[in-house]
Amino acid sequence: MTGSAKNADEELRELAAKQVALGEVRGAPAADPVNVPMIRHWLAAMGDENPVYLEQGLAPPTMAQVWTMPGLSRGPKERSPVDDMMTALNGHGYTGVVATNCEQTYHRYVRVGELLTPATRFSGLAGPKRTALGVGYFATWHITWYSGDDEPVAEMMFRVLKFRPPQKTEPQEQAAELPPYPLQPAVNQDTAFFWDGAGQGELRIQSCADCGELRHPPGPLCPRCRSAERTHRVASGTGTLFSYVVHHHPPVPGRETPFVVGVVELPEGVRIVGNVVDCPIEEVRIGMPLRVTYRRMDDRLVLPMWAPEGR
Ligand code: ZN
Repeated sequence: MTGSAKNADEELRELAAKQVALGEVRGAPAADPVNVPMIRHWLAAMGDENPVYLEQGLAPPTMAQVWTMPGLSRGPKERSPVDDMMTALNGHGYTGVVATNCEQTYHRYVRVGELLTPATRFSGLAGPKRTALGVGYFATWHITWYSGDDEPVAEMMFRVLKFRPPQKTEPQEQAAELPPYPLQPAVNQDTAFFWDGAGQGELRIQSCADCGELRHPPGPLCPRCRSAERTHRVASGTGTLFSYVVHHHPPVPGRETPFVVGVVELPEGVRIVGNVVDCPIEEVRIGMPLRVTYRRMDDRLVLPMWAPEGR
């Protein structure tokens, strides 16, 4: 290990200890109290049809973070003990980021009209560790949302890996074979059929062998009849763009930014997440007709992606 690298590690460890010692730091209160329009949008986006929220003026507990998310133009009051740590990690070359853990705890339902205030506690930094994505540090923090002065209503533990992205290969050094794609899907007994299908140019959707219900992403149990017997159906390969984001930052190993991540609604009745490709980003539109296309990422992995229909 070089002297400068050692200094960087010591510097990061010292800063982490300092941030932990700050304890819980209150952020700015939410810009708006818990309100019906936001709850309505959330329920629509999540496809949650439970009437209890709007009928009784309750917010889904999973919305906790929504009320106090500061947005891009946040002021100095919204800075948390995590921000300085992230700045230092970026400064030392750990510019990649991937979320690894998130655990939320809900103490009670929050009602329309309540004003929430977040408080953030930096809980620790572990590393440097060698991972599949590169050498990096795991940073962990806790956010508690308070109603009024001191009643906690929800908590969240969040952990990210901040890693040093591998250096890009120079074009003249690129071998004819594709290098291993760094972001491999988790293939297990519930999902293997999907990835086998992608490798053969088939878009396979899991279906219940008892009641026929289609489901995606795949899982062990039928959400309708609880049967563990499953099979799959091969989708037609068409769809429409239901929603999308354009990913500009942070850098993603193995990918060039910006790129489009879409939610595609299939005529079979399920939605699937995938990249929208072969289309200028400014021409991407919700509702556009798409067709699946298969991209070989390396020797093993083929990813289904989505291109404008007819192109
Ligand atoms: Zn079923």
